[in-house]
Amino acid sequence: MNDHEFETEYGSAITNNVEYELLTKAAIANGFLQPEKPLVGFINIEGVRKTTADLKAAFPSHFSHHFAVKANGMTPVLSLLRECGILAETASPGELQQALKAGFTGKDIVFDEPAKTEYVIREVISLGAALHIDNFEEMERVRAIMAEQNDYTGEIGYRINPQVGSGKIKAMSTAGAHSKFGVPLEDEGNREQIIQDYLAHPWMKTVHTHVGSQGCPFDLIAQGLNKVVALAKEVNERAGEQRIESIDIGGGLRVNFYSDKVTPTFQQYADFLKENVPDLFTGEFRIKTEFGRSMMAKNGSILARVEYAKNSGGRHIATTHAGSQIAARTTFMPESWPLRLSAYTPEGDFKNGECVEQDVAGPCCFAGDVVAHQRKMPKLESGDCIMLHDTGAYYFSNPFYYNSLPTAAVYGYTINDGQVEFVQYRRQQTVEEMMAIIG
Ligand SMILES: *Cc1c(COP(=O)(O)O)cnc(C)c1O
Repeated sequence: MNDHEFETEYGSAITNNVEYELLTKAAIANGFLQPEKPLVGFINIEGVRKTTADLKAAFPSHFSHHFAVKANGMTPVLSLLRECGILAETASPGELQQALKAGFTGKDIVFDEPAKTEYVIREVISLGAALHIDNFEEMERVRAIMAEQNDYTGEIGYRINPQVGSGKIKAMSTAGAHSKFGVPLEDEGNREQIIQDYLAHPWMKTVHTHVGSQGCPFDLIAQGLNKVVALAKEVNERAGEQRIESIDIGGGLRVNFYSDKVTPTFQQYADFLKENVPDLFTGEFRIKTEFGRSMMAKNGSILARVEYAKNSGGRHIATTHAGSQIAARTTFMPESWPLRLSAYTPEGDFKNGECVEQDVAGPCCFAGDVVAHQRKMPKLESGDCIMLHDTGAYYFSNPFYYNSLPTAAVYGYTINDGQVEFVQYRRQQTVEEMMAIIG
């Protein structure tokens, strides 16, 4: 699929327009869009509750679900997820602190950083969080630290790269032959070395893999998971007892960025896994998941003012305040990360008129700062608003300080009887705060 889909489907791609219009009108009425605040983000609180409920309902109770904090590390979001019964996946000292601040304790957290310092390994172990070892060198470090430990109750294990191949988006693929993640299972001698390490260290109780994110086909994920399950069974068989108690199967469920429809659903994924990786469902192992994008993408949106509308060489261009500072992946890799947009009048009325082809550009000073190229949609005018949909994952958590633009405010919202209620999740960064970061 490519951008072309949007050209013919503007109306049908925006089926929740009543809700989006209410949200836009309420945001304008609340003064969230001002000349000095031309960009704002939203999290759909009820949406998050529904998504997490769907996730939990799709899998049996021996599954636990660790949200990938990198997808959206805002404290109120993490707290909301925690209240919904979700746990945390972290991969840096900062993400670890974000999870702790949101109320997660060590036993709720798994830690996946590829470049763990000795310092952070000690921190993770002292918290009792689960630790996934990326490579044999790291194993030496962990072994030395564990030799001084006697009260660690968490779970340690290898992160395995099953080397089953890459998905559609190279940058999102983690299980190719040369991936930077985990211990490559098929390289000569590795499988036996891994098994020997499990047999020699009774504190190695888990095994982890994450086959890939957006763009990774189900079949590839199933192949990777089956290899890891087979490894875990072999370890237990050779140990003569259940040494590996849990398997962490990672995240990577793709998101539909082309309409409001949630597809694939968690239920479809669970059904697929049940059919194709049945060992996950027997209860022999506790199973952990690490979804990020599929939990939050469709529960977030971004609203920006159109500052100017102009024409260049016959092409309409809307110059807006939503660009690389908040949508870096979309502007740098537009084919891989397209977004649905919808348009509103200055009063917040949904614009549904005749569609014309236009570039929707951001405020940054480089030519690629365009969130939609030649998108067919109602012609944008200065003063209009533009909404970027499905931006709840990997947008608010990934600011880009190009042109020293500040990070935008984000509000959580609920809609009751047509009334939108907001809670501020974060305010817009001040210029001083931005300057403190740039230095
Ligand atoms: C990024 C990441 C995830 C989450 O991936 P999604 O595609 O957002 O579901 C899970 N586990 C690990 C180890 C990751 O790096």
